Amino acid sequence: MNKVTEKFGSMVFDEKIMREKLPREIYKKMQATLKKGKRLDRETANVIANAMKDWAIELGATHFTHWFQPMTGVTAEKHDSFIAPTADGRIIMDFTGKELVSGESDASSFPSGGLRATFEARGYTAWDPTSFAFIKDNTLYIPTAFCSWGGEALDKKTPLLRSMEAINREALRVLRLFGKEDETAVKTTVGAEQEYFLIDAETFTRRPDLIYTGRTLFGARPPKGQELDDHYFGIIKPRVKEFMKELDEELWKLGVLAKTEHNEGAPCQHELAPIFSTTNIATDHNQLTMELMQKLAKKHGMVCLLHEKPFEGVNGSGKHNNWSLSTSGGVNLLEPGDTPFENAQFLLFLTAVIKAVDDYQELLRISVASAGNDHRLGASEAPPAIVSMFLGDEITAILEAIENEGNVCAKDKEMMKIGVHVLPKFPKDSTDRNRTSPFAFTGNKFEFRMVGASASIADANIVLNTAVAEVLKKFADELEGASDFNSALHDLIRRTVIKHKRILFNGNGYDDAWVEESKKRGLANLTTTPDALAHYLDEKNVKLFTENKVFSESEMKARYEIYLERYAKVLNIEARTMVDMVRGAILPAAAKYKRELSETAIATKGFIGGADLSFEEETVASLTELSSRAFALLKMLESANDTAKELLCSKDRAEAYRDSVLPIMEDMRKTVDAIETLVPTSSWPFPTYGEILFGIK
Ligand code: ADP
Ligand code: MG
Repeated sequence: MNKVTEKFGSMVFDEKIMREKLPREIYKKMQATLKKGKRLDRETANVIANAMKDWAIELGATHFTHWFQPMTGVTAEKHDSFIAPTADGRIIMDFTGKELVSGESDASSFPSGGLRATFEARGYTAWDPTSFAFIKDNTLYIPTAFCSWGGEALDKKTPLLRSMEAINREALRVLRLFGKEDETAVKTTVGAEQEYFLIDAETFTRRPDLIYTGRTLFGARPPKGQELDDHYFGIIKPRVKEFMKELDEELWKLGVLAKTEHNEGAPCQHELAPIFSTTNIATDHNQLTMELMQKLAKKHGMVCLLHEKPFEGVNGSGKHNNWSLSTSGGVNLLEPGDTPFENAQFLLFLTAVIKAVDDYQELLRISVASAGNDHRLGASEAPPAIVSMFLGDEITAILEAIENEGNVCAKDKEMMKIGVHVLPKFPKDSTDRNRTSPFAFTGNKFEFRMVGASASIADANIVLNTAVAEVLKKFADELEGASDFNSALHDLIRRTVIKHKRILFNGNGYDDAWVEESKKRGLANLTTTPDALAHYLDEKNVKLFTENKVFSESEMKARYEIYLERYAKVLNIEARTMVDMVRGAILPAAAKYKRELSETAIATKGFIGGADLSFEEETVASLTELSSRAFALLKMLESANDTAKELLCSKDRAEAYRDSVLPIMEDMRKTVDAIETLVPTSSWPFPTYGEILFGIK
């Protein structure tokens, strides 16, 4: 099997395979499930399970697993073999509909935020037939949702599916208003561009900070960083190219539409962009992509870093979440149309997104909040922690024209009447100029750029889908009751633009002036994860999720706990790693080098009486001062960490880590980096930034 077209999806139980392997009636039922979300009966499930098993065994599978996405942000799996004993003491390969549809897992160690008491620790997994089963490592993977016995979501897939249901429901209502009776479903589509670093495995194993925390806690700037922009889209090194080739091939087998591979801004930083698919599948595929990146990097003697900010001073890694809405008839609802009528529909969906992003800006920020991403957002390479939207000059001009309609002062401005005027044609590329915006319209989709590289894209899309669903619901409510649809539509769009234009910003998002300006506009600037999380349970957010049936209030409270908990745990690990590195290696290295210099100085003095020993003396003096500072900070860090760790309330704990542990860590880093510049590389206990960043030849 050499041809890419043959390889593609060869390990996926997709529609083509289903058509081949399933009896016609069963295939039809499966289609109804896929297209209309119909439930499958047990008998049908049995037939599908059997066909799936035969297909999987043919391809070498011996086991199956319910693959799920708990709140850890990574995927989880528990493998069972297909074997079942027979009466004569032999075995058959068996797989029932029951085993396909649901599974039980003693998953008491996954974070549940208190949703599961330990006496009912079991969770159960339920097949998500909308995401295809696949074979990996001789195992049949069945994508599943993960819930408690009470039906509460313990994972990221369940609420994602619920949010897709919400937006489907409300978007269809809006389409009906435009006379689109034929459309049976609206799905959100996502293409997640994944950034990552590849470093040499040998270098990695000598950096405890990378091993334990995924990022470097120390590291003086190398003489060269990314200032020459010579890595971005540059020639890919042979070793990396081999890796990318294999990655593409493995992903294709699993039906992942890996499309573009290129070098990114920082040295040894790269990106993979897939072709977009339905949000649910895009989320599963992004998890697979991250997993395979890490696995294959190892095979090629490298390590793939997915942390949001593995290195200071060069770009961090994000994940651009390209998002749009697509109908069952294949229409992209964020694509401007050719007729006034289509344009009216486009503008309604566009303003719905504007209102959603403005109304729920805190939730969007929360959806990307993590200890790792805090280092990236607002640094010089990524959007700030302020949510704003970029629409480009053309669309902005159209919205201004709509706004100014009927305004006597704006006589000379062009007027725009929705449902009457055709939008001017604008080239798609012209909208993709602003790379500094956290939420940019790029011609026929929005690109949400705040998502961190290691995060599951589920969280961001749950918020996005639900917020837009909520606005569409309000829009539909208003328009369904209107006597004159066209004028009601015009009025609604105009009112929405006027009310929410504060969220629109086409300027440079990296500029300090924007921070000031956004404050004047009343936009939220939530710079740290605890700042952001403080808004999670705001009344309007609880209302949003509960009314749209995406989360119950208890599910939200549980998630709130889990997020805070995670933040504190990550910082605890970082603080402890720092302490270990400083006490165990950095201070001893500084002491050793100081001794060498002192001994040299004494010996030299004995040899040449009045020799100039300013280098030795000054270096020893500086190292002494810096080491004692580092030692003082070490003790402060240990005690601040101990205090923070013991706090009982998770909010207090997270805030203590932010306010008292993190600042000491920053100070410690500066001090240690200064020590590093004084100690020769040969005496430094860890690989330097230069060695790590430029280590792949
Ligand atoms: P670039 O950002 O380099 O200009 P594209 O605009 O073609 O490239 O696509 C960037 C990402 O957006 C890709 O992952 C692509 O699949 C995705 N994308 C394109 N169209 C859509 C859409 N309608 N919905 C969601 N994602 C999309
Ligand atoms: Mg892009």
